Formats: sequence, C-alpha cells, structure tokens
Amino acid sequence: MGTVARHGTITDSATNDSMAAQGTDTGTLRAALEEHVDGEVRFDAGSRAAYAHDGSNYRQVPIGVVVPRSVAAAAVAVAVCREAGAPVLSRGGGTSLAGQCCNEAVVIDWTKYCHRVVSVDPAAKTAIIEPGAALDKVNDAVKVSCRR
Ligand SMILES: Cc1cc2nc3c(=O)[nH]c(=O)nc-3n(C[C@H](O)[C@H](O)[C@H](O)COP(=O)(O)OP(=O)(O)OC[C@H]3O[C@@H](n4cnc5c(N)ncnc54)[C@H](O)[C@@H]3O)c2cc1C
Repeated sequence: MGTVARHGTITDSATNDSMAAQGTDTGTLRAALEEHVDGEVRFDAGSRAAYAHDGSNYRQVPIGVVVPRSVAAAAVAVAVCREAGAPVLSRGGGTSLAGQCCNEAVVIDWTKYCHRVVSVDPAAKTAIIEPGAALDKVNDAVKVSCRR
C-alpha cells in the first residue's frame, strides 16, 4: 500500500507520523474504513491525486478519501481515523483559495451523498443543512422558505 511523502510524492514506505506513532499503516486504516463505514473508501493513486488540490495552487496528496453515505457514516469514519491516529480533513466544494482542503489526511468528501437542506426556520433564522450542500442550494431553500 502506498503512502505519501512531503511534496506529494507517492511512496511505498513512508507513513504518516501520527499513524506510525500508533502502529497503524494505510493498508490497515483502509481495511478498517471499508469494514466499518457505509460509504466509498478510495485509497487508489488516482483518487488521491484527484483530491490533492483545491481552488489554490497548493498540492498535498491525501492518505485516502472517504465518501460517506450519511452524516452518521462520516462520524464512524472519524472514529476509525481517531483510533488509527490518522488526521481527517472535511471537504466541501474544494473552492478554498489557500490550500485549506489539501492535506496529508483522510479527506471526507461530503458532496456526493450528504448535501440535503434538512429544514429552514425563517422565524428563528436557523437552518439545518448537511455539510456537502452547495451555497446556491442553501440560498435557494432559504429564499423559498422566506417567501411563504
Ligand atoms: C471565485 C471565488 C471567489 C471567492 N471569493 C471569496 C470572497 O469574496 N470572500 C471570501 O471570504 N471567500 C471567497 N472565496 C473563498 C470561498 O468562500 C471558499 O472557498 C469557500 O467558502 C469554501 O467552501 P467549500 O465548501 O468549497 O470548502 P472547501 O474548499 O472544501 O474547504 C475549505 C475549508 O473548510 C473546511 N470544510 C469544508 N467543508 C466543511 C464542513 N462541512 N464542515 C467543516 N469544515 C468544512 C475544510 O476542511 C477546509 O478547511 C472565493 C472562492 C472562489 C473560487
């Protein structure tokens, strides 16, 4: 199983420092995520390359990617990563301009499944929204709710 060295080079021997401290390698982490998380677990080189950048010029190849099918599944992924000592990174649209969602971490991509606007309460000026919702979708839901 390949892991990632600085500057985005994919190697077969390097391990993330915090994971190594806990005696966990990426193969073990991937297996645990695949076993416990309801979602897509992508540790292949192509997926890691695809998630190595955001809207900025920064490049950091992640340890792997999890695409959870629910918020609860994402919580399980975080728990598995915590157990392994692996850093996690929450990714929305990847439109950040200063490398905020590039890191040597397990990237959690919310956008595929966790993008519902659950409820909007105009009186209370609150909304419950899943983390992968695009801003336009949220704004549209708020406009509709506020017109009622
Ligand atoms: C053309 C353009 C113009 C812009 N103009 C402005 C501007 O005028 N003012 C301004 O302030 N910004 C501006 N931005 C930046 C933009 O607001 C941010 O890129 C955007 O807010 C990031 O949202 P995202 O969902 O794409 O997050 P990402 O880029 O995916 O992630 C950004 C950060 O948020 C974290 N994150 C993402 N999703 C979650 C989540 N669900 N829960 C917790 N953490 C999360 C990530 O870990 C990361 O640290 C602009 C960007 C573009 C492309």
